[in-house]
Amino acid sequence: MDAEHMGDDLAEVLFTEEQIQARLAELAEQIWTDYQGKDVLLVGVLKGAVMVMADLMRHLPGSVEMDWMAISSYGSGTKSSGVVRILKDLDTDISGRHVLIVEDIIDSGLTLSWTRANLESRGPASVEICTLLRKPDVVKVPIDVRYVGFDIPNEFVVGYGLDYAERFRNLRSIGTLAPKVYS
Ligand code: 5GP
Ligand code: MG
Ligand code: MG
Repeated sequence: MDAEHMGDDLAEVLFTEEQIQARLAELAEQIWTDYQGKDVLLVGVLKGAVMVMADLMRHLPGSVEMDWMAISSYGSGTKSSGVVRILKDLDTDISGRHVLIVEDIIDSGLTLSWTRANLESRGPASVEICTLLRKPDVVKVPIDVRYVGFDIPNEFVVGYGLDYAERFRNLRSIGTLAPKVYS
């Protein structure tokens, strides 16, 4: 159990490795059915989506392509502003392609709605979104998310790709941090 592996840094485990994998398997099945006969390109947003991408795509029963973007979102403190800069663009020309954006978490949705609009401007056949986690604040931005792993409360979570100051991404489960980590 990685809560032990990381000492007592987690206050609470929200999702275990097994729960995450089971949900990703369900999403993969749904995605495979929805994209039957279509050549889907999975687009991950670095770095948080690394684990979701790796496991989701391995749950798919057939071959797919993936590509990555790195973006930086300007904001004050922990809240994103929706003002976004591309640090690393796609290698792939997505015109005419079916694009599925793979995300770790949607909080305000500002970063993602910018990313989706940016990709849509390149003439793809379709752009949909898959996120492992979604927070309640997302209702502030009208964004259509086709695939959601889990809806979670408005708490800061780490693990499974999600960081606190670049740490804890390698946790296999997802949880909230103990107060002592912040001090
Ligand atoms: P949004 O534009 O949706 O507000 O921002 C989404 C991004 O903020 C995520 O991709 C992630 O990097 C970061 N983020 C939002 N909520 C959390 C959280 O609870 N934990 C961590 N580690 N990052 C978060
Ligand atoms: Mg992300
Ligand atoms: Mg982060």
